[in-house]
Amino acid sequence: VKAAQRGRIRLRVTGGVQGVGFRPHVYRLALRYRLGGLVGNDSEGVFIEVEGSDLDLSLFKNALQAEAPPAADIQRLSEQTMSVAGQTEFRIIVSESNGIPRVAVSPDLHCCRECREEIANPTNRRFGYPFTNCTNCGPRYTIIGELPYDRASTTMRSFTMCGDCAGEYQDPADRRFHAQPNACPACGPRLSLSLTAIVESLRRGEILAVKGVGGYHLVCDARREATVARLRRGKNRLSKPFAVMVQDLEAARRLAFVNQHQAELLDGSSRPVVLLQSRGVLPDAVAPGLSTVGLMLCYTPLHYLLFSEGAPDALVMTSANQSGLPIAAEEREATSQLRGLVDRFVHHDRSIEVPCDDSVVRSFRGQTLPLRRSRGYAPFPIELPFIVPPTLAVGGQMKGTLCLGRGKQGVLSQHLGELENLQTLHYFQHVMEHLKQLYQLTPRLVCADPHPNYLSSRWARESGLPLVEVQHHHAHLASCMAENGLGRDSMALGIILDGSGYGEDRTVWGGEILRGGYRGIERLAHLKAVPLPGGDRAVKEPWRMALSHLWSAGLEWPSEIPPVRHANQRELPLSALKIQLENQINTVPTSSMGRLFDAVASLLGVCQEVEYEAQAAVLLEQVADHAETGSYCFGPGFDPGPVWEAIITDLAGQTSPGAISMRFHRAVAKTLGALAREHHEGLPVALSGGVFQNCLLLELVVAELEAHGIAFLTHRQVPPNDGGLSLGQLMVGVVRYQEEGGTVCA
Ligand SMILES: [Zn+2]
Ligand SMILES: [Zn+2]
Repeated sequence: VKAAQRGRIRLRVTGGVQGVGFRPHVYRLALRYRLGGLVGNDSEGVFIEVEGSDLDLSLFKNALQAEAPPAADIQRLSEQTMSVAGQTEFRIIVSESNGIPRVAVSPDLHCCRECREEIANPTNRRFGYPFTNCTNCGPRYTIIGELPYDRASTTMRSFTMCGDCAGEYQDPADRRFHAQPNACPACGPRLSLSLTAIVESLRRGEILAVKGVGGYHLVCDARREATVARLRRGKNRLSKPFAVMVQDLEAARRLAFVNQHQAELLDGSSRPVVLLQSRGVLPDAVAPGLSTVGLMLCYTPLHYLLFSEGAPDALVMTSANQSGLPIAAEEREATSQLRGLVDRFVHHDRSIEVPCDDSVVRSFRGQTLPLRRSRGYAPFPIELPFIVPPTLAVGGQMKGTLCLGRGKQGVLSQHLGELENLQTLHYFQHVMEHLKQLYQLTPRLVCADPHPNYLSSRWARESGLPLVEVQHHHAHLASCMAENGLGRDSMALGIILDGSGYGEDRTVWGGEILRGGYRGIERLAHLKAVPLPGGDRAVKEPWRMALSHLWSAGLEWPSEIPPVRHANQRELPLSALKIQLENQINTVPTSSMGRLFDAVASLLGVCQEVEYEAQAAVLLEQVADHAETGSYCFGPGFDPGPVWEAIITDLAGQTSPGAISMRFHRAVAKTLGALAREHHEGLPVALSGGVFQNCLLLELVVAELEAHGIAFLTHRQVPPNDGGLSLGQLMVGVVRYQEEGGTVCA
């Protein structure tokens, strides 16, 4: 019998492999297959050397991927043959911090099943302990200050492990081997209030500010109308929907309709808020006027413990911030911002390195449609279609994010909120410095929106770095192309629909048909422009847009239509608006599709004033009667005039708002379909911009394209709204800078 061949190989694993229990996984497999060698983390990921029989080596390689820890995301595995060294021991090398980190920092991870079992087991030493974690789960991004990921680089450095915890941490066979946030009731972080007291307070209908993994949440019983209404008054947020946390899928199904893909999203490791069709069992105050509800499942041990201790089965769980300010992350901010609004504070003493809001997603045709990419996703890099030098893109104004690029990675930050005041600008800068530190990345180029007044753009202009300004809708197109893997020289036809973006002609764009690629765009067609009367006021008050559209179409303002009734009831100056439109006082032309949706919502009496972005469009989408098969027709030049005439006629004829909304949605989709057929010339059609958060419109447009065999691209990794803008800016900025002769060293 021939003796088994022995060999030694070196493996290199890249991707999301640090802080997810990968080294212990390797160690256990090495023991199982009797291999000698070593494993370590370095700035590029995990390196492994193993030696043993050829059979054992191949079994090891199979198991390495097949049994990888649930949170690991192996992007590449490369192998190199080495000469046998006769090593029979297997050891773990301690991290070294030299070199440039190229690893993915893990997002915060949802509490794993084993940890859940421990906190529920009265004989376990972690019974009832809300900071339980292991190498498979727990906080990551929000506690890491720098790489490599070791306890000393996290905010856990201030807690000294007790003997038991240290034993686990050092034992390669233990689930907590090198679990950096490892802690127990004897040595780890503590809550400022007992679980029992928190649960009793919630049951009494009190409002709590509870410090979680990425910041404070405002928490209360979602079934108590009066409590939720009190929270709304305190937060000065009358209609923006609150997210609701439930214990499990079963509880989610009691509140909303949940299909297979939505169940996977809810129950998956990222634990986003998922927008679902509501069953209408929660009070209207949770999501006023909406037929949807945003649900998420428990994700920290504290959440699980609250429900098992008897907390109400549906909890409002919304970011604790006053309107316009970033999520509160530390005790001082929380108490100063929220005093008077909450009945009790629940603090803990594990610091948050960077705050991170909950993510929000929808499901579209069995795929994720991100609306806000934040906790659970950030800062996992987006794989870029081509190599970029170290570059920073600062995003827009609404739904701010920033993107740091290097090599083939684009690190998109968490949601930063509306960048319209100093506090959010500070948050933006803090997150940027943190990500630069984590990735040891010094940008050589900055990309921004050309808008004269965006704070992010102003910051970029003053940064001293070479600057490339990227037109807003060009950036939307590029972000959709990039996440779909379209290469440097690719072209697409963009149907880019949103609320507003600064156009090349200094008007407000938003209903754009663009052809181009990363290098540049051609504006082939757009929604016929109408005056935007009074800028911001027209955005906040859709009735003004409705009247502007009617005026532009040469139509009267009959006294019985809802926008006119609204203005008269509120004694708002209709004649002043008419004078403003006729004399073009403080008006700017806009081709915005978002404003067209606002205007139709107003004319149907669905919404006259908005509190949050896209509110009118959301209401118009939900009122649509799906059984209606009719459609309106835009005029030549994407002119909405004929649509307005038809709507006025339908209103006078008592056609229901549901039917009108559906006919309007279909008219938009049919016109876009026709424009796509006319202009695509074999190119794929990229659908981007905030209007595509509307799944009814998205479905109708996609159906039009499919019916004519036109390939299309949609968003699955980054939001179609301005939250995805920074990724597109990055791609365009790099290509333009390099092609215009600017060079930046990689
Ligand atoms: Zn765990
Ligand atoms: Zn301990």
